[in-house]
Formats: sequence, structure tokens, C-alpha cells
Amino acid sequence: MSTRPANLPDKIQHFIDGKFVDSIDGDTFDVIEPVSNEVYITSASAKIEDVNLAVAAAKRAFEEGPWSRMLPRERSRILHKIADIVESRDEQLAEIESWDSGLPITQALGQARRSAENFRFFADLIVAQHDNAFKVPGRQMNYVNRKPIGVAGLITPWNVPFMQESWKLAPAMATGNSVVLKPASYTPLSAALWPDIFREAGVPDGVFNLILGSGGVAGDALVKHPDVPLISFTGDSSTGAMLSTNAAPLLKSLSLELGGKSPAIVFADADLEAALDATVFGVFSLNGERCTAGSRVLVQRDIYDDFVERFAERARNIVVGLPTDPTSEVSALVHPNHTEKVLSYIEIGKGEGRLLAGGGRAEGLPGGNFISPTVFADVKSDARIFQEEIFGPVVAITPFDTDEEALKLANDTRYGLAAYVWTSNLKRAHNFAHGIESGMVWLNSNNVRDLRTPFGGVKASGLGREGGYRSIDFYTIQQSVQISLEVSHSPRFGVSGK
Ligand code: NAD
Repeated sequence: MSTRPANLPDKIQHFIDGKFVDSIDGDTFDVIEPVSNEVYITSASAKIEDVNLAVAAAKRAFEEGPWSRMLPRERSRILHKIADIVESRDEQLAEIESWDSGLPITQALGQARRSAENFRFFADLIVAQHDNAFKVPGRQMNYVNRKPIGVAGLITPWNVPFMQESWKLAPAMATGNSVVLKPASYTPLSAALWPDIFREAGVPDGVFNLILGSGGVAGDALVKHPDVPLISFTGDSSTGAMLSTNAAPLLKSLSLELGGKSPAIVFADADLEAALDATVFGVFSLNGERCTAGSRVLVQRDIYDDFVERFAERARNIVVGLPTDPTSEVSALVHPNHTEKVLSYIEIGKGEGRLLAGGGRAEGLPGGNFISPTVFADVKSDARIFQEEIFGPVVAITPFDTDEEALKLANDTRYGLAAYVWTSNLKRAHNFAHGIESGMVWLNSNNVRDLRTPFGGVKASGLGREGGYRSIDFYTIQQSVQISLEVSHSPRFGVSGK
């Protein structure tokens, strides 16, 4: 069994205006850990009234300062301290995250470090930030006055929760906003670490507020709150669509980072060893619970049989084990409900493709959330396992003959988040990348992302871009200010009628 991390709190509470609090009505929900599927802690469960308190605290902090009015350098120092603290606690963080979410410990550690890096990156960016000024010689000056927006509502999913939260918290806070974070209810534990980290780093009370609870109640209240002008959401495409309907009457700024069914296209002229490493890692890392997973692998027919066989052999050899075991490559899925969903897709897949590896629960492990890495070959593009996001360790492999056919297959889903192309032909690589309907493409690389690059999807994978300066743009208003340099000559209305 996994060992319970030391010093876990007795319960998880909201954090509002610098204080840990229960829900006003005392309501809680149970949180389970994914190895045993047993309840190990309860969490406060927010209602509209709790969300209202959190938003009021954030609004007050925003209006009264000092956070929203600080010099970028001052905020930057605090953000660097946050990064230092996260880095110094990376092992403890990884342990807690792995316990709560089922992520293999080594991968959880990488994500903890990435979380620190998100804060460090935006700490640097805000001091280097400059805005445009435009001159019309002798007549006018124009400049951009960039301002924080107010209270940012941040709603995050259960996969790599702490890192996803840092991805939104860092730019939202760096730009001077106050925030209300609503993490996923499957995995609230690591979110409950933020208050102490922020307090220790010197973030003033009310700037960061945490509300815990269900999406339908707590998340919904945040989306519909009139004092929250901006929502950054990461989650399922259908939730994103619903949320955008709910936010529409208030005309909120929305950033939606949604689901994916990303293709990895392997041409016969690729470095096949590198392609194999990357495509296996691309779908099975983070338990396959990864929005950018390369869950459809398209392979050119000349190398198809050989590549598929080697891929399946790798999958069969993947170490499925406890999250705490540093040798585990795939571990427990987050929750029994999600496990059932993934297993149901595996059953569907058995009628849609040729099963070459996995095909059900992994044997010899406790609980029931361990699934063997599963490989289906010869999957047609109209198959459900080709079209629908499974979000687990399951891959669909499909052959193709020509570039045109590969491109058609790659684009033949409603999603468009990431794509991975493997070829040694430079022209083909670029032309193919440009033809793919996705927000991001990696050429001869697995998913390694420079924090300066835009992140986001097209089609059902999302709306808007975050990442680098796009995040700064999303979390700020760019007010343009015009100054006349001469006597203002306006057309004189209301003069001739006298
Ligand atoms: P989800 O949509 O069920 O939940 C995401 C968050 O939204 C949770 O905090 C949830 O409580 C909240 N929520 C649910 N209903 C809501 C409502 N009506 N109003 C407001 N908030 C609501 O998603 P999930 O199952 O937690 O996460 C998995 C999904 O997230 C997958 O589809 C995955 O691809 C996607 N994802 C996308 C990215 C990306 O960057 N594109 C990254 C990670 C995960």
C-alpha cells in the first residue's frame, strides 16, 4: 500500500481573506485516495454564500491594495519567494500530489518543479514588461496603460492539479489581480498548500482565496458572479461549453483550455527509435491523464507492422505500480468513476481495433484504479476510441499511405490541441505542421514547452491563448491613452445654426 504522507491536516478548508474557514453551513465532501479508494480526509464544500465571501475579499484586496498597486519589482520579489518555497518543498509537494492524484512520484516531482518555474517565469516577465507608445509627429502621442482587471476566477482540473493551478495563479497574481481559485474536487489536497506558501512569501491577505467544492455549485457561482470579470478555465470541452454559456450574459473574458485527442504522426523516414520513445511516453506519461497526450498514433504503412509491434512490446513492459514507487511509470487513475470510464472505452475498443497490449485492470495491485497500458491497432477513423477523449493509458494506432491521407486523419476529430510529427524531411515537417488543425505542434520532439510560447487549442480544444505574454495580455486591460500635442481642432458642431 501507499504510505500516507506525514503531517496531513485533519480536514481541508477554504482560505478566504487570509483565514482558513469552513463552509458557512458546515457542509463537507469526502476525498478519497486512488490506491485504496478509501476516504482519507474531508473537505469544506462551498455554496454560493462562501463564494460570495471569497469574491468580496478578493475585490476589497484589489481595490484597497497594496498588491494591485505595487511596483512590478516588488511583486516580482514575492513571486520569486513563492518559487523558492515551492522548490524547497518539491519532494513534500510531490508526495502529497502523488498521494491525492495517483501520479507516479517521479512524475509528480517534475510537475512540482514546473510549478515553481511558472512563478519564476512571470516574476521575470513583469519586470521586463514594456508597452507600446505611438507618436504622430507634432500632433499626438498615444501609449498603452496596462492595468490588472480585478478579481480573476480560476477553475482547474484534477490532472496534475498543483501545476495547473500554478499555471493560472502565477500570471494572474503577477499582473496585480486578486484571485479566487476553485480546484477540482477529486484532488483538493495540494491546492490547500498554497495559502501557507503565499503567506510565507508575503502575499497580502485577500489577494489569494481558495474555495473548495463541486463545479456545479462552487464553480458555477464563481462563473456567474458579477464581480468576477474574468474566468480562466481548464477542463473538459463540454464543461467549457456550458461555462461559456453561463458567462455570456455578463460578457466575461474567458480563457478555455479544454480536451484533446492529439495525433502523433510517424513517417517512414523518421528517426524511429526517437519516435518510439516519444510516442510511448506521449500517451502513457502522467497515467495518460494528460490533455496533450498523443492518444492517436498514425503510422506510415511501410513501417507500420514493425513500429506497431515494437510499440506494443514497450507498452507491455511498462512498469505499473504504486504511486510512491520511484520505478512506477504508470500508476493509479485518479478516481474509481474515471477508472470505470476508461475501462468502458477499453471494452468499446475491443470491438473497434486489434488489442495488442493491456485491455483491462493491471493485476496484482490493490484497489482498482490501475489499468494496464492498452494498445489498439488498425483503428478506423470513425471508431469512438479514435474520436473521443479517453484520458487514460489507452492508444489508438492507425496506418496511412500518403501525406494527404495522414493530414486528413490527423484533422478528423472535433479536437485540436496538440500534434506531434516525426519525419526527417524538413519541407514535409513544416508543410504538414501548417496544415494541422491544432493549437500546438511539435516536430521531432515530445511535449517540451518553452514557457514563452502560446498555449491553447483550436476547435473543441479551447478558446484563447495563455502562455508568456499572452497570459499577461489575458489578465490585463490594455487601455490606450491619446494626448494631443497641439491645439485641438475639433469640427465645430452647433455653431452654424446661431
Ligand atoms: P471538468 O470539466 O469535469 O472539471 C474541471 C473543473 O471545472 C473542476 O474544477 C470542476 O469542478 C469545474 N466545473 C465543473 N462543472 C462546472 C460548472 N458548471 N461551472 C464551473 N465550474 C465547473 O474536467 P476534469 O475532469 O477535472 O479534467 C479533465 C479534462 O480537462 C480533460 O478533458 C482534459 O483534456 C482537460 N484538460 C485540458 C487541459 C488544457 O490545457 N487544454 C489541461 C488539463 C486538462
